[in-house]
Amino acid sequence: MKGLKNIITESIRNLRDCQTISYPSSLGQKYSHLEGLRGKPEFDSSKCTGCQACVRRCSDNAISVVDENGVRTLTIDVTRCMYCGRCAEICPVGAITMTNKFELSYDASEKPLTVNEVAVNNCVGCGTPYDSTRLIKEVQERVIANVDPSVVNVVQEDLPKYIFLCPQCRRRVVYELKTHTRKYY
Ligand code: SF4
Ligand code: SF4
Repeated sequence: MKGLKNIITESIRNLRDCQTISYPSSLGQKYSHLEGLRGKPEFDSSKCTGCQACVRRCSDNAISVVDENGVRTLTIDVTRCMYCGRCAEICPVGAITMTNKFELSYDASEKPLTVNEVAVNNCVGCGTPYDSTRLIKEVQERVIANVDPSVVNVVQEDLPKYIFLCPQCRRRVVYELKTHTRKYY
């Protein structure tokens, strides 16, 4: 008799105070405003230089790179991502944002990916995909800004000779072009 009474009391309580939370409309909004929430990472293609620092920093191998037809495509596989935020932290131009999007369930046909495309130049020596114009320009500016002032003029003259060559080609022709640093000593 006591058991039946408990069941009836519990049933009445459940009917009166509904325990089912309307998701995601109520809970989703609540959590999306949590300060510091790290959700789905997203790229800002207008800032990205294609430097690939984020790819190297990602400890989950969640970011892949494909160079094809003059375009570097960086893709974050959100199903591999652990939302650590290291990619956003390392990006030198602030091109990755950890958004507050966390409702990322998907069906098999729609794997959640974050895709970013950057135009890249081919190396003028061997033709392999190299770097974006934006990154080459940025490197040039950083080198000039940080080089020893006593050699800045020489470096300024040398940079255009090798800046459009990939690192392998630079090594190959460094003495031919007389752009090696040993000439300073
Ligand atoms: S997102 Fe940032 S770190 Fe990643 S390739 Fe673009 S500029 Fe480099
Ligand atoms: S948030 Fe972390 S795991 Fe996800 S892509 Fe960035 S570095 Fe990789």
